Amino acid sequence: MMISRFSSRCRRNPLPVPPPLSASPSLVTGKRHCISLSASLHVGEESTSAPIQATPSRNYNRWKPLCLYYTQGRCTKVDDPLHIEKFNHNFGSGLGLDVSDSKKLRSQELDFFLVLDLEGKVEILEFPVLLLEAKTMSVIDIFHRFVRPSKMSEQRINQYIEGKYGKFGVDRVWHDTAIHFNEVILQFEEWLGKHQLWMKNPGGPLRRAAFVTCGNWDLKTKIPDQCTVSRMTLPPYFMEWINLKDIFLNFYNRRAPGMVSMMKELRIPLQGSHHLGIDDTKNIARVLQHMLLDGALMQISARRLPGSPGKVKFLFENRV
Ligand SMILES: [Zn+2]
Repeated sequence: MMISRFSSRCRRNPLPVPPPLSASPSLVTGKRHCISLSASLHVGEESTSAPIQATPSRNYNRWKPLCLYYTQGRCTKVDDPLHIEKFNHNFGSGLGLDVSDSKKLRSQELDFFLVLDLEGKVEILEFPVLLLEAKTMSVIDIFHRFVRPSKMSEQRINQYIEGKYGKFGVDRVWHDTAIHFNEVILQFEEWLGKHQLWMKNPGGPLRRAAFVTCGNWDLKTKIPDQCTVSRMTLPPYFMEWINLKDIFLNFYNRRAPGMVSMMKELRIPLQGSHHLGIDDTKNIARVLQHMLLDGALMQISARRLPGSPGKVKFLFENRV
């Protein structure tokens, strides 16, 4: 598809980087004065849960929006200095960490995490995946596609996209790039193969990797629903996942109902546009990195029953 009027419409309205968050009320354990607002956050001495600490130095101030043509492998302006000045082609920006002095990092059962945060309530509209290496916590690659609904009239799609993405200024790039879900899945499988995380033959589960999501909705509900709408069999790599909220609850002994509340608890500033899938995925990856630095072990929290993929077994007793 031709990408037209690229520069005039390649705009986004980022959220400003907020000032440091004040301590979340849920961190207060009866002694508000116990909470230090310095780099390290102290919780009352009587608390038995793992301490929450601020992530080591990280530069949050030089944020600029990702080029959403680039994230999808379709930017035609990679050599244009004006474009580069305005838009970020470094999809790992804001996710760089110095892990050399972290004493709490523990070895993980998995080598790679695939952070995923779908967008779209009626049908999937955006499929962003960030590939993170467990050992170094570095971003290896990104897979990002806007998804065109298959059972919706053009008029409905236009209204839907204007309402959902117009406010972020990315409705044009959505229209320029969105492809159907079955095509997204074909390209995603190629991408998984390139990283040797999954091969069509022999198929089966992911190798040394797992999806990390904020909640169970993405993999438990939305992917199977979209597969039904798109008349596809559920791919075998969607059989298990890590719900970060369950890990958060069991590790910190605190309940966080969503991404924003986890970020508030950990005092990580929100970056980008909340509910733009690619930005949320990066924010969830920041939470994941922070939890790894604090010493959390990422384990599968939900698994479909073999032979009965409609049923999901939850593996933690304490769940959000
Ligand atoms: Zn670009």
